[in-house]
Amino acid sequence: MRILVTVKHVPDLQSNRSFTDGTVTRTAEDGSMNELDEHAVEAALQLVEEAGEGEVYALTLGGPDAVSAVRKALQLGAHHAIHVSDEAVAGSDVFGTAMVIGAAVRKVHAEAPLDMVITGMAALDGLTSMFPTALAAELDWSQLTLASAVSVADGEATIERHLPDAHETVTAPLPAVVSVTDEANKPRYPNFKLIMAARKAEVPVWTLADLGIDPALVGGGAARATVVDASERPPRENRRQVTDKGEGGRELAEFLIEKGLA
Ligand SMILES: Cc1cc2nc3c(=O)[nH]c(=O)nc-3n(C[C@H](O)[C@H](O)[C@H](O)COP(=O)(O)OP(=O)(O)OC[C@H]3O[C@@H](n4cnc5c(N)ncnc54)[C@H](O)[C@@H]3O)c2cc1C
Repeated sequence: MRILVTVKHVPDLQSNRSFTDGTVTRTAEDGSMNELDEHAVEAALQLVEEAGEGEVYALTLGGPDAVSAVRKALQLGAHHAIHVSDEAVAGSDVFGTAMVIGAAVRKVHAEAPLDMVITGMAALDGLTSMFPTALAAELDWSQLTLASAVSVADGEATIERHLPDAHETVTAPLPAVVSVTDEANKPRYPNFKLIMAARKAEVPVWTLADLGIDPALVGGGAARATVVDASERPPRENRRQVTDKGEGGRELAEFLIEKGLA
């Protein structure tokens, strides 16, 4: 079982965000692996463990600091890490992102066939959930999205998908792109040995030239969406802060009654 997991490097959601030329300002010190991608790594590790053989590749596309996302995946137990990075990719939309990651997936697949690509359900910065479908289209592979459980048998992947008013079981032939939700599993904690190994691991960096992609086809210039304007959210108004000096509960109850909320 050979599985590639895509892990995105995203800014710290608790920090104050700002924009540069319509895109989120990204700095080296404040990012980490998208939390939802821990479920993708865990799903891949479990499938390989159940199969009794195989390898998990973790791949990220991003600037120089994005390497920390794949190092986190190595800490969790991924066997290999790949960092795709090229200045010309900055500003890419979902199609550009899928073109670049798709080419990297094909490169790994050409060395030895992959059974599956597993992604998270959403990146907590972009939060579009568009990438898994765009990647499946780019690769011309089956897609199984928003899986709360995933299993493999007889050359097929089967997922369970919980919808607001339905429960679906969907099967597709391998190779497939599968996106998993946060219900899929409980990610494991990294152990000390893997943390130390991940710190020292050599992570190959692939550029557009390595992937045979014309830089004119990706990046902001090729994006089909343009950010016209972006501004910071105005400060919230009409807020009341209650400092509890023993009467906090009463004050809160009075506030809720006053607003007709109790
Ligand atoms: C005009 C425009 C300009 C943009 N400029 C930039 C920019 O300068 N810098 C920038 O970072 N983004 C930029 N973006 C956003 C970028 O296109 C999206 O991040 C990308 O399409 C993925 O979408 P998403 O983040 O919503 O991921 P989702 O679709 O919500 O992510 C689902 C899953 O896909 C995988 N995934 C997504 N992105 C990556 C990645 N890069 N590496 C590995 N796995 C991934 C993860 O497993 C994730 O859980 C721009 C978008 C537009 C429209």
